[in-house]
Amino acid sequence: MSEAAPPPSTLPYPPIHEGKKFVVLSDWDGTITTHDSNDYMTDNYGFGKEKRRQLNIEVLEGKSTFRDTFHDDLASVAANGHTFEDCKEILRNNIHLDPGFKDFYSWCKAHDIPVIIVSSGMEPLIRAVLSKHVGEEAAKEIDIIANDVQIFPDGKWEIKFRHPSSGFGHDKSQAILPYRRLPQPPTLFFFGDGVSGEPISLPLSTPYSDSCFVSWNKDISAAKHADVLFVKTKDNGENDLATYCRREGIKHALFSNFFKVLPIVESIVDGRKTIDEVVE
Ligand SMILES: [Mg+2]
Repeated sequence: MSEAAPPPSTLPYPPIHEGKKFVVLSDWDGTITTHDSNDYMTDNYGFGKEKRRQLNIEVLEGKSTFRDTFHDDLASVAANGHTFEDCKEILRNNIHLDPGFKDFYSWCKAHDIPVIIVSSGMEPLIRAVLSKHVGEEAAKEIDIIANDVQIFPDGKWEIKFRHPSSGFGHDKSQAILPYRRLPQPPTLFFFGDGVSGEPISLPLSTPYSDSCFVSWNKDISAAKHADVLFVKTKDNGENDLATYCRREGIKHALFSNFFKVLPIVESIVDGRKTIDEVVE
């Protein structure tokens, strides 16, 4: 089967972890973090939630792309005079990690399982949040495949997209495909979310909430290449993404936090369970 040419990347990739039996790839916002950090900045320090959601709808209607609306979300934060250093501090103080992530990460490290964060956000902000919650050392060494930032001499800044030619800004499938193509590919675990807080009625016949769909559209290109897809559920019990996966015939396992997921991953790693036993 021929594959479309990958979009050129403006940013380097971390080296491929060859010879591993298992590799974990995970979305950052809303999956490792409890809330989406970019939504948080836009809603509280940029042009606000209403405008952000209006732009989400434009993406769903095909009038705009995630890349362009996300650029505008972040530009509104910079336009309000918030420096990039301010943003690091804001997020360090307000964004929390899934309570089980630190232990999950330590367990993976102890079992020689690489963990790679695959995000549409900006790498320096992710490392700033990680350094507060998992420590400086882990925050430095963890692989992150994301976008970056461009900071200008006057202190203004803007997002630097990894794949400017992609409507997603970062085509996440390019993070997982090199593993799929290895002569002996590892078992690939992918973690994603995609369920947003409040569903709204869209001028489209979609059963999904806006942020869910915008978020999930970015992840699905990577997630479909995983061997085991874990879909995070949210406190409010919404399950849009599970509905989507079932409809599309994408096998997955639901999880509420990384504490709950660790025994499942463990059972596959030590061979007590097969993948088919944990996904549906
Ligand atoms: Mg997410």
